[in-house]
Amino acid sequence: MSMLKKERYRVFVDYFSTHQPHAETELHYSNPFELLIAVILSAQCTDKRINQVTPKLFERYPSPEALAASTSDEVFTYIRSVSYPNNKAKHLVGMATILVNEFKSEVPSSVSDLQKMPGVGRKTANVIASVIFQAPTMAVDTHVFRVANRMGLSSKATTPLAVEKQLTKNLPIDKIHIAHHWLILHGRYTCLARTPKCEQCPLNWMCKYYAHQHTTTALLKAEKAAERKKMSVKKKKIRKTARIPQ
Ligand code: SF4
Repeated sequence: MSMLKKERYRVFVDYFSTHQPHAETELHYSNPFELLIAVILSAQCTDKRINQVTPKLFERYPSPEALAASTSDEVFTYIRSVSYPNNKAKHLVGMATILVNEFKSEVPSSVSDLQKMPGVGRKTANVIASVIFQAPTMAVDTHVFRVANRMGLSSKATTPLAVEKQLTKNLPIDKIHIAHHWLILHGRYTCLARTPKCEQCPLNWMCKYYAHQHTTTALLKAEKAAERKKMSVKKKKIRKTARIPQ
């Protein structure tokens, strides 16, 4: 019997509230400005790589004013090992300039204000709003998108925005910001893109993808067994016919 969506969400929240009550971002930062830099840099790159470059970057640019006064060429030298360093260097300087000129050097809390800065799309803005301000926003990255769809927390959702809407609609409002980390961490360490570790996954019993895989495997096995049986009956018939004297 398939599980009701409401029940699926309840199980998901109960499990992670108990086993990962303090999930948080793996990016290193000590204030909102540093997190904003780290999240902009982390697009299409690993948190591990970002954490390698940010200590020197934060030391050189401790404030929005310092970063805004720099050039993208100089910033580039600190971030050359991350993906798309040219664009990201420009985004960082542009972001700092807007912070200084429009937001009194304070990271804004609203998603729409955050999106006014270069390099800050909906996903980045949602991360900042939820991590810094505990806003009930859901940033949907590749892990969140995959895990939500596989588990059945979202259905027929083909875009990150559709997944975001379904998750924010169905999760308890006070759990939305932490659920973002639960989904990311689960996707990063267990529900891997190519080879999900389903046998070790504590929620496999309620996972749609897992149920489907098992049904498919069982069906394939049954089909092969039926095929083998058919072949053996056929062979027996041929042998019998061959024994009949002409
Ligand atoms: S059972 Fe497999 S596919 Fe489902 S959530 Fe767990 S790891 Fe992912």
